[in-house]
Amino acid sequence: MDIKSGKLSVESENIFPIIKQWLYAEEEIFLRELVSNAVDAISKRKHLILLGDAPATDQALRIDVKLDTEANMLTISDQGIGMTAEEVDRYINQIAYSGLVDYVEKYQGGAGGGQAVIGHFGLGFYSAFMVADQVEIQSLSCLAGAAPVSWLSKDGLEYQMAEGKRDEVGTDVILHLDAEARKAYSASKLRGLLKRYCGFMPYPIYFQVDEEEAEQLNDTEPLWLRNAKAISEEDYIKFYQKTFATELKPLFWIHLNLDYPFRLKGILYFPAYTGPYLELSNRILIYSRQVFVSDDLREMIPDFLFLLQGTLDCPDLPLNVSRSYLQNDQTIRALSKHIVSKVGDKLAEIYQDDPDRYQSMWPQIADFVKLGCLQNVAFADKVKPCLLLEEVDGSFQALADQAEGPIYYVYNDHRLDLYTDRLHAEGKAVFRMQKGLDLQWMSQIEAQSQGKYRFIRADSLAHPDEEGPGEALAEDLLNCLRKVSKLSDLEGQVKAQGAEAPLLSLVEDEAARRFADMQEIYAKLVPEEERATMEEMAGQLKPHHTVLVNTDNPLYSSLDSRSEEDQEDLLRYAYYLALLAKDELRGEELKAFLKASEKLWTK
Ligand code: ADP
Repeated sequence: MDIKSGKLSVESENIFPIIKQWLYAEEEIFLRELVSNAVDAISKRKHLILLGDAPATDQALRIDVKLDTEANMLTISDQGIGMTAEEVDRYINQIAYSGLVDYVEKYQGGAGGGQAVIGHFGLGFYSAFMVADQVEIQSLSCLAGAAPVSWLSKDGLEYQMAEGKRDEVGTDVILHLDAEARKAYSASKLRGLLKRYCGFMPYPIYFQVDEEEAEQLNDTEPLWLRNAKAISEEDYIKFYQKTFATELKPLFWIHLNLDYPFRLKGILYFPAYTGPYLELSNRILIYSRQVFVSDDLREMIPDFLFLLQGTLDCPDLPLNVSRSYLQNDQTIRALSKHIVSKVGDKLAEIYQDDPDRYQSMWPQIADFVKLGCLQNVAFADKVKPCLLLEEVDGSFQALADQAEGPIYYVYNDHRLDLYTDRLHAEGKAVFRMQKGLDLQWMSQIEAQSQGKYRFIRADSLAHPDEEGPGEALAEDLLNCLRKVSKLSDLEGQVKAQGAEAPLLSLVEDEAARRFADMQEIYAKLVPEEERATMEEMAGQLKPHHTVLVNTDNPLYSSLDSRSEEDQEDLLRYAYYLALLAKDELRGEELKAFLKASEKLWTK
């Protein structure tokens, strides 16, 4: 064979410096590109064999990546279709090269340079020059009678072709690692990259360092490609634990398999929540035909599902586009919508099939479900039947099972035992709510139920339109209570509440208090400088207390017979007790209460 040498077009001579600079941060994708080519080559050979255009083989076609640490050589060998001299000229000198030129032209000056491009697909063979100062190809085509060919280039621009050395069908791509790459790509680094980028490619990939034994690194049949019906629960759990290197078991999972309007296969796991120290990267691994593309595709998964982990294989993703384009991409939107809908369906399904299991999951998923309700209408609709409320006794009830009317609650960090007991005595449930997220969620439920449900904190019983106003309190008693409470705008009512109930209790208006609670939450979110003003505002918004005087309490009937001073002392003390029952006895009032209590014993 004639030795052929040549030079690629001159005006492109500065392409490599540009490429190197752009891709610096993701230079490592060269490995994915070269192994992907090897995978394609095997697929093509198999196809030719199937068509009868190439001789059959009984070998299990594989890919071998070898690192020679002495010679600083990295070789990617495949038993694929191979290339004739003519094909090397066409595919490497012309097609691969023009692919590179296209790539550069397309993304030159694009916002964010190479960084803004997802996946960097299309760089292909020439990415080898990002890490090598000499690249060699040895290839033997699978076509009957083909001769081996070699190709060698030091800079990617000038090349030499000659008779090759390979005696087995397939291709070796041999990289003579440059000085920087020698340092950057140790054996363990390369092993990690192969696992990450090539871990699920469809043909066996072996990695060998020097004379060590070759080790297969990939799983050629990732679980997501298999038929869900044939996969056991254990398989799903094992796949999760292996892929995410964890011992934890996922709470539930969703096997996605869609062909239209786009192709999507994958498994999404809802992990066991492990507390605030959550690793937020590397949660959803995106593949395109089993080739790893990205672990950071925020555009595809809505915020409230940030906890999900899994693998998604979607060949229809636009991989060569910038981030800002992605956000508005139809496919991405449809994908995101599909995922949200499937998560909603799955929750409803578990609730229906196995309510006990659902209930046991609820404490871990509740926040995400509620956040989802607030952020996504379609999701809110799906999970409507399976929203749970946690009773203070630890049991659960479905929101959908609640009777029309008030739903009583307490904040989970604010005990209102007396109020709760009273509601329990009346046969009513009292649920636990979080002051943060649930505030918004309750409002949403109320709005959506169009008046069917109203959330009332356990100490907001005297909600005017709920029980109707009690009878007005006598002027002198009210004045005395205003004096002892130092609340000039205190309102008072008398009400028969049974002999067991305390003489005084404090209630407040739900809407006003909830508004003040909201302000308090927002105050925490505003910048430091504005916080004081916000908090002051929230303080001013504090709803007025109304004091309920229990006419059934024996102390009530004794009030009239007491001296004015004694009456005042009694009411003061009863007021402190009312604050105590509301978990609001603090500061000066607490001190006064302690003092008054001691005095009682010295009397
Ligand atoms: P792409 O793979 O996107 O077409 P590349 O630059 O990676 O672009 O490769 C250009 C062409 O070179 C491929 O389409 C293929 O025909 C040929 N090629 C590259 N690597 C191999 C290989 N290992 N075996 C056979 N052909 C290859």
